[in-house]
Amino acid sequence: MLEKVDFGSRRIDAYRGVAPAELLDQLTAASADLRGVRVLHVNATPYGGGVSELLRSTVPLLNDLGLVAEWKIIRGDDTFFDATKAIHNALQGDPAALTQEQRTAYLDASEQNARLLTEEYDVVFVHDPQPVPIPSIRGRGESRWVWRCHIDTSQPNSDVWGLVRGLLGEYDAAVFTMEQFAPPDFPISRVELIPPAIDPLSPKNLELPEGMARQILDWIGVPADQPLVTQVARFDPWKDPLGVIEAYRLAREQVPDLQLALVGSMALDDPEGWEVYRRIETVADADPQIHVFTNLTGVGNIEVNAFQRLSEVVIQKSIREGFGLVVSEAMWKGTPVVAGRAGGTPLQVADGVGGVLVDDVEGCAAAMIKLLNDEGRRRSLGDAGRARVREHFLLPRLLLNEVMLIRDLVEARPISRSQEWFESRDPVCGMAIAARAAAPTAQHRERTYRFCSETCRERFRRDPARYVAQFEVS
Ligand code: UDP
Repeated sequence: MLEKVDFGSRRIDAYRGVAPAELLDQLTAASADLRGVRVLHVNATPYGGGVSELLRSTVPLLNDLGLVAEWKIIRGDDTFFDATKAIHNALQGDPAALTQEQRTAYLDASEQNARLLTEEYDVVFVHDPQPVPIPSIRGRGESRWVWRCHIDTSQPNSDVWGLVRGLLGEYDAAVFTMEQFAPPDFPISRVELIPPAIDPLSPKNLELPEGMARQILDWIGVPADQPLVTQVARFDPWKDPLGVIEAYRLAREQVPDLQLALVGSMALDDPEGWEVYRRIETVADADPQIHVFTNLTGVGNIEVNAFQRLSEVVIQKSIREGFGLVVSEAMWKGTPVVAGRAGGTPLQVADGVGGVLVDDVEGCAAAMIKLLNDEGRRRSLGDAGRARVREHFLLPRLLLNEVMLIRDLVEARPISRSQEWFESRDPVCGMAIAARAAAPTAQHRERTYRFCSETCRERFRRDPARYVAQFEVS
């Protein structure tokens, strides 16, 4: 058997008073017919990274909703994980091809994992490319298979995409974070868009009294009585930490006592992270107002929570981004964000709610200075950002999206065409929308569509046929 991951129990009722009540009611109602439905989530690791963070919350909640959900991980040796890392990078556009040895390692380990998956489920979610070959090797059995791709595969290395594409034949549906992340010539006809979400009850996001947050920062040597801007991100060139330092220096010319915190998680086996870290240290060492922290020096979830809460501005100056969960994490804490216009950041900061999108170092510095000098604007952006996250980027919304997909798949029905169904999700970004009147709407061919933002409505208006086409799948 594949190794099972243990998870604690969670209660969906605990989200009452935190997430919108209509969303929780819709979620409970949508799950009512799914009592006893067997769901498996398969991925490559029980800890580290966004996928395991999400599964640790969603799998126990699916059980609380009455489904029988399990989480299992695949196994592999170093050669396998070297190969899957190369595949991951190639699907994100790295031109390096796979070696024959990597190809063999990927397929051989997949064969062993496929043999270990002997149980049958109603729906199996396969996360990212690592476990992708399993159904093509063992056969689909009685299960419906979903490929949940978390990365941006819009411009994949064609050689590696050819390999992965050929392994997707048994899948019934695919889920991407955003429409533009899907690769060209995609073979699975049913594609769902489901942006990620944050867990408001996790230690990283739960309410933290200001006094305690101050004590936490004080404990690690960051004076909370001087203005502070923070970027929380892996030490990765695409997150542009050196650009953040440049922007900070420009801002400091106007706000002399400004401090910068760069908080990055580090994995012992990620040489690129260390290299970027060393470059940052060289630049930051000379400046006592720049603080650099890693998870290896004791900065974990609670500290990240305190940084995101107490910073005047949170920066996420990514040049390329997946979804960028940190943006919602900061917005949830009422902190305005200055974010690079990349990947999922424009969806989170849609209509300028919660922050400012920037395109370069100068823009980043100018946005920071403006916000640092305007407490009223910071507060109004922060309040609006928190409200947007509450409505669209908390875990119950993600669960509602997933449960609706599971329901469609187990009932083997074409996408239902009721007015209610059309109104229940934004056709542009895919998010489930709470049943309330305030969402922006648009009419198209006598149907009403509802949207998470004016930005999505505008995109729909420009090309409705493109977004309606997805509902034609059966
Ligand atoms: N994170 C963290 N400590 C760090 C750096 C990042 O806990 O030092 C967390 C961060 O809070 C977020 C996740 O790692 O929950 C990063 O997700 P995101 O989608 O922003 O970026 P990714 O790393 O997946 O590209």
